[in-house]
Amino acid sequence: MKSTFNNTYLGARDTGGAGDLILLGCPLDATSSFRGGTRFAPDSIRKASWTLETYSPYLRLDLEDIPFRDEGNLELRQGDLGYCLDLIGAATTEIAAIGSRALILGGEHLITWPILKALTSLVADIQIVHFDAHCDLRDDYEGQRLSHATVMRRVKELTRAEILSIGIRSGTRREFEELAPIGSPEALAARLKKDLPVYITFDMDVFDPSAAPGVTTPEPGGLFFDQVMEYLRVLMGMNIAGADIVELSPDYDTTLVSSITTAKVAREILMLMDLSKKG
Ligand code: MN
Ligand code: MN
Repeated sequence: MKSTFNNTYLGARDTGGAGDLILLGCPLDATSSFRGGTRFAPDSIRKASWTLETYSPYLRLDLEDIPFRDEGNLELRQGDLGYCLDLIGAATTEIAAIGSRALILGGEHLITWPILKALTSLVADIQIVHFDAHCDLRDDYEGQRLSHATVMRRVKELTRAEILSIGIRSGTRREFEELAPIGSPEALAARLKKDLPVYITFDMDVFDPSAAPGVTTPEPGGLFFDQVMEYLRVLMGMNIAGADIVELSPDYDTTLVSSITTAKVAREILMLMDLSKKG
């Protein structure tokens, strides 16, 4: 269960207490339509994190001051999707039961469905902040109702939660007609309800492919890191109930920059989660 990269700051460390933030790898790699490789993401993110500082000049916080522990990766059986989704849901429930919150490293985007299925049964009135190039609102994709391309549709069926989507630039006409797109950090700030908890689902293809080419479905025209940070800064002080970062496919980027970018997003989201505990 433990990470093979325990010499890194996102690697295994035991800060002890119940209620601490948990980092969990969830390397689901089952329904990719174009190219896979997300099963290698969690360990690549840990490895890449070695190059980053623990201090964030964006949020002016240091990861050294934040109690979190890395629980390694869930042991999935890639050929058995039902088993994988059940295990992801059970892990989410278990983490909530010990009073902790998790940043889950995918894996493909479908993991968000079992995570939110578990969380929305425990946390009322959650709002969802969705970073993605794609709407992910199809009813089925290539004959599958459970797919990375249908995940936000399935999430919508679980909950009446508002889904605030950022960076979307690909989908069918019908998907776009249904979307609640957020076009600026100011618009995000205006739409968020300050008193409700937030779940963040962060699909790495929201980045421009020149900034993060190692994703399963690259889509030109995306955001750059500073723009992403402007959105994340809006979430400072919000009550963040959980988060995931998905769709990194590290082997498509031999420079490791996509994994480093993912690790940096993970660092910032962990900090936002810690802040919200204190807030
Ligand atoms: Mn996407
Ligand atoms: Mn997606």
